[in-house]
Amino acid sequence: MTGTAAPYALVIGIECHVELATSSKMFCGCAARWFGAAPNTLVCPVCLGLPGALPVPNRRAIELAMTAGLALHCEVPAHTKFDRKNYLYPDLPKGYQISQYDLPLNTAGWLEIAGDDGRPKRIRITRAHLEEDTGSLHHDGRGTLVDFNRSGVPLLEIVSEPDISSAREALRYLESLREILIFAGVAEFRLEEGGARFDVNVSIRFDEGGETRWPPQSEIKNLNSFRALEEAVAYESARLWDEWHAGGDIRTRRTKVTVGWSPERGRTFPQRQKEEVDDYRYFPEPDLVPLSPAPADVERLRAALPEMPVEQRARFVRDHGLSEYDARVLVSDRALASFFEDAVRAAGGEPKQVANWVTGELLRYLKEGNGAVSAAKVTPAHIGELVRIVKDGTISNTAAKEAFAEMWVSGKAPRDVVESKGLAQVSDEVQIRAAVDAVVAENDQAIATYRAGKPQVLGALVGKVMKRMGGKANPAVVTSVLRERIG
Ligand code: ZN
Ligand code: MN
Repeated sequence: MTGTAAPYALVIGIECHVELATSSKMFCGCAARWFGAAPNTLVCPVCLGLPGALPVPNRRAIELAMTAGLALHCEVPAHTKFDRKNYLYPDLPKGYQISQYDLPLNTAGWLEIAGDDGRPKRIRITRAHLEEDTGSLHHDGRGTLVDFNRSGVPLLEIVSEPDISSAREALRYLESLREILIFAGVAEFRLEEGGARFDVNVSIRFDEGGETRWPPQSEIKNLNSFRALEEAVAYESARLWDEWHAGGDIRTRRTKVTVGWSPERGRTFPQRQKEEVDDYRYFPEPDLVPLSPAPADVERLRAALPEMPVEQRARFVRDHGLSEYDARVLVSDRALASFFEDAVRAAGGEPKQVANWVTGELLRYLKEGNGAVSAAKVTPAHIGELVRIVKDGTISNTAAKEAFAEMWVSGKAPRDVVESKGLAQVSDEVQIRAAVDAVVAENDQAIATYRAGKPQVLGALVGKVMKRMGGKANPAVVTSVLRERIG
């Protein structure tokens, strides 16, 4: 429905709510990791909204929100404050949400994605403000139950400009945002646990009778997976187009509509009419003082920012000579990327060889064991040593894989494994010459063929020498001794 043949342009902006990775809630000391906890066990008078309870801001949450803003190239305002956003809903016990209105913590940022034309495209970020999450409602056959464990969990709301032109770009934007926030240590972005949710503003623009039409947008609320976003955008944009052509009220309406998404039915459905900003009666939160971020704090947070994935990938390609593919695999996991760099240091270079071990054997074993790289018994120092002893001819590549299998289980250093398993490669010419002599004596026919101008039989002869030496001979030395002997 939204292929290149679509008769309209898509204009998309995204509001992304992300839970910050703090241990406690935004304005009280209750645990913030609510997912999976028994209902209403992580609550106190503050997050239950009891009268007289006063909020105390979570310093860590503010720092994480600022770190996110810095990673997203936002400007840090001189002054910022919290405001009350007033509305009535059963999951909001105070009757208002503490949020930020006209002085958000972060403004005017951007992130870069690959646009649909394959070129880099900047998606501008209007603002990223700090607020508190609501409780959650659970509907069952008897009625609706409310759980306040999530109430007061710190949320960062990141609002993009309408710079996104397709569902694919929307996904790339969110994937990039996710990667940045995880790398910066700001959020875990666990979609399957409700740790991030998206409101997507979709509109269509097209020419009709020589005039540009740009009817009011739809806001699709509360999408909780990338798949839902992709399907909902496709559905809703086509629906807007159809409604326009059916002469629906989209032709006269001035304001946007708010819709939900039903994954079961594969369609959107109208929701409560969206409040206008005036309806929320925002006013400055009287229980909290305004903040003025100190330049020294901002610089401390900026200095602590790790290298972002997009920069790290570029550096791996440029400085280590890796393929885009290998760079992508390594950078997909921050721990894996630093494992790789530590191993390169331990190997004294050889980044391509190190990358082969990390993206090959190490990842394969990690996947099979379902383990994290940080818990692996094989260390970057081990990989570095393995690469060095393959390079200097101590062991063959095949033997190195055997050594790796043992290292994986025992956590022993490569040299110890080579010794205990007798994996060392024989490069001693005296031993190799003896084996070559024996093979030559037994293979008159093959040698005659070789001398008759069929060099391809050499491989088979090398194989026989290797077999005779229990697979431990250095194949390069065997080849050259053999050539010399029969050539
Ligand atoms: Zn609490
Ligand atoms: Mn919000």
